[in-house]
Amino acid sequence: MARLSEHVAMVSGAGRGIGEGIARRLAEDGATVVCADVNIEAAQRVADACGGASSGLRLDVSDRVACDAAVAQVVDRYGRFDILVNNAGINRDAMLHKMTDAQWDQVLAVDLSGVFYLSRATARVMRERKRGKIVNISSASWLGNIGQANYAAAKAGVVGLTRTMSKELARSGVTVNALCPGFIETEMTNALPPDIHAAQLKKIPLGRVGKPRDVGNLVAFLASADADYITGEVINIGGGYQI
Ligand code: NAP
Repeated sequence: MARLSEHVAMVSGAGRGIGEGIARRLAEDGATVVCADVNIEAAQRVADACGGASSGLRLDVSDRVACDAAVAQVVDRYGRFDILVNNAGINRDAMLHKMTDAQWDQVLAVDLSGVFYLSRATARVMRERKRGKIVNISSASWLGNIGQANYAAAKAGVVGLTRTMSKELARSGVTVNALCPGFIETEMTNALPPDIHAAQLKKIPLGRVGKPRDVGNLVAFLASADADYITGEVINIGGGYQI
């Protein structure tokens, strides 16, 4: 039997990139995946690729009411909710002295408040069931990165949120961990100028840019019973990028 069979997972931002890689990898391990994304066509395409009873869901994670409704919808439809992956994220890079209020607000709303809204709604369900796995996607940038004051602040916030949630939910049998990808090949990184792309590649000891599947492999492990004794961890995944 596949290690996540009969498990129901929700992955935010699953329409492409790392979220798509995570959704496909969880499905490979037998999970039914709710692929949630602002882009419903993309989410549905990934859900179709996941197969089985997986489904696409239109969701803007910065909308608190929609997050509550999305979690309720998953429980109504499937009768269970085992795994939440908070992956949706955006960047709006600018040097601090040029950063607009809108750039700050948008990134904090999606990358930090979105994680809070979905996690809060999910925690209510998982606490009652006395089990569950939450995996939050932070970033190597949480330690600080030029041009990313908004993004680094949000991703550092995700680390604090993860560690606090892990302490609060441990007694309910729910584990919460954060992953910090280094440089992964997606539309987010493909949008960078070629010289920055090349400079980032040079910082990776393993000599290649990461693939969404690399992150999916780690999420699938953390979402499984094999990782039942791991909680509150902040795990780098970057081919050595963070050494
Ligand atoms: P991506 O290629 O830009 O994909 C992000 C997905 O999230 C898109 O499908 C996007 O939809 C969706 N999305 C955006 N805003 C949303 C919202 N408010 N609600 C729901 N879905 C939303 O990004 P990625 O590179 O895969 O990154 C995924 C996560 O990994 C992010 O949290 C990012 O910060 C983190 N990360 C990435 C890297 C990297 O190297 N790529 C490194 C470290 C951390 P649209 O297509 O409609 O915009």
